[in-house]
Amino acid sequence: MRSRYSAYASNNADYIYQTYAEQSKAQQSLTDIAAWASQTQWLRLSVLQSDDITLDEYIHGNDKTLPVVHFIAFYLHDKTFYHMEEASRFTIEDQQWRYLDGDIITHQALKTPKRNDPCLCGSTKKFKQCCNLKL
Ligand SMILES: [Zn+2]
Repeated sequence: MRSRYSAYASNNADYIYQTYAEQSKAQQSLTDIAAWASQTQWLRLSVLQSDDITLDEYIHGNDKTLPVVHFIAFYLHDKTFYHMEEASRFTIEDQQWRYLDGDIITHQALKTPKRNDPCLCGSTKKFKQCCNLKL
């Protein structure tokens, strides 16, 4: 489940697409994902909470609630900074965890920080010495 977040960070559109559940795959194309990913720079991607259950534990366990990964992200897309927070649900297909859908808690464009503000990526640097350089 966590591997999808590394795939986003490293711009691996194939992997992102392949790990969508079939019903979610139908709503987008690999081309769209690749185009969006190539225009997006991830500044911070943190998993806050993850059920981290193995396939085996889930299949043989009594709890059939779908596992959830709760994460926050900051990214830069088309010269605008965004903050998002989502609780993602996963399901099993072909003996693999696949992304099913998620509850979006926050997804908003941010005002560009002032030069001397602390950077929004969570580094301890000033904005002008950090993510401002990626604009
Ligand atoms: Zn930064």
